[in-house]
Amino acid sequence: MYTIKELELKDKRILMRLDFNVPMDGHQAITDDTRIRLALPTIKYAMQHSECIVMMSHLGRPQKKRLADGSIDIKKFSLAPVASYLSELLGKQVALLQHDEEIPDIGLFLLENTRFDAGESKGDEKFAQRLAGFGEVYINDAFGTAHRRHASTATIAEYFAADQRAIGLLMESELAFAKKLLDSKESPITAIIGGAKVTDKIGIIETLMDRCDHLLIGGAMAYTFIKARGGKVANSLVEDDKLDLALDILAKAERKSTKIHLPVDSVTANAFANEADTLIVNSDMIPDGYMGLDIGPQASAAYGDIIKASKTVFWNGPMGVFEMPSFAKGSFAVAQAIAEVDRNGGFSLVGGGDSVAAINASGLADQVSFISSGGGAMLEFLEGKELPGLTALTT
Ligand code: AMP
Repeated sequence: MYTIKELELKDKRILMRLDFNVPMDGHQAITDDTRIRLALPTIKYAMQHSECIVMMSHLGRPQKKRLADGSIDIKKFSLAPVASYLSELLGKQVALLQHDEEIPDIGLFLLENTRFDAGESKGDEKFAQRLAGFGEVYINDAFGTAHRRHASTATIAEYFAADQRAIGLLMESELAFAKKLLDSKESPITAIIGGAKVTDKIGIIETLMDRCDHLLIGGAMAYTFIKARGGKVANSLVEDDKLDLALDILAKAERKSTKIHLPVDSVTANAFANEADTLIVNSDMIPDGYMGLDIGPQASAAYGDIIKASKTVFWNGPMGVFEMPSFAKGSFAVAQAIAEVDRNGGFSLVGGGDSVAAINASGLADQVSFISSGGGAMLEFLEGKELPGLTALTT
């Protein structure tokens, strides 16, 4: 597999798949530009070598969220705001291009949302071929969608010879840091896994169990483990059909050298609301009518100590409902401890949309070794699963 720096780009029309799937408010103003900024080095590199660059990306799920008359909600899902914003950042006009427009000779272009065509998510050959016509070389720098076998991320690669397709600079660093994490022998190695559902994290928990010394569990998924062990979790979010699985994982960890930690205490509330009445209690003795919404102060301190003593750290998933200030302390404590790992010369990787949002909210984002732009893609890569966006460039 080639990287962009290994391709002959001079005067070639460069087609790039980037991840511009950014959040927008009700007036189509971009509310978080992280993904656009992460794409800039590859775009600027391409601009040094060619005068015709066609960028493409998806935005949201326009096929699933159609208007009442069945048509696509073009206003809501158009990439026009991204084209304007890119023009500002690059100091050069980026023109929005429709899928059926003429292929241009010169200039900076952003193709309209690839998901406006139903063929995109199906990996459709015809649509991929149409897209491929926009470039003489193809660069995939959309790590966040590398785990999807879509027309613009995977199928399209077959229309380019092996030396006319490559990964971009962001994809290159994502892969390098993920490999660094997997290859790390610098122990203690600690993984912090949180978030809403055990189901989503089973794969990564099982993979990590072979590799790390400590597995710290937080978020709603902790209560499935605590209930499985016989604890009283009252109204906490629990996956009752995963109790056996949770016990299985705990038993497996006993046989391995990984120690699984559950939060000893929790911040509980009598409603899922920032202003609800809260109580700090042992996580296995939550009173009736209350639910665990964050790890408690004792758990935060214990997790913090383990993290700070670690040499290699991976974090995916918040420790609580960090979107509400009353339940953000646990996630912020983890972010702070991770920043210290880096100060002590260790290595830390934060991956997954919500833990990235949590570390951004904590103001410590610039103090961790690497923040991944791809939640699902990073988890699947670490689990050893094939990423179709990458395989397409190698086969
Ligand atoms: P995930 O996408 O699986 O990483 O889950 C992230 C979501 O889990 C965030 O929106 C959190 O607000 C939510 N979450 C974390 N802890 C809890 C909890 N104890 N109860 C309910 N939701 C939670």
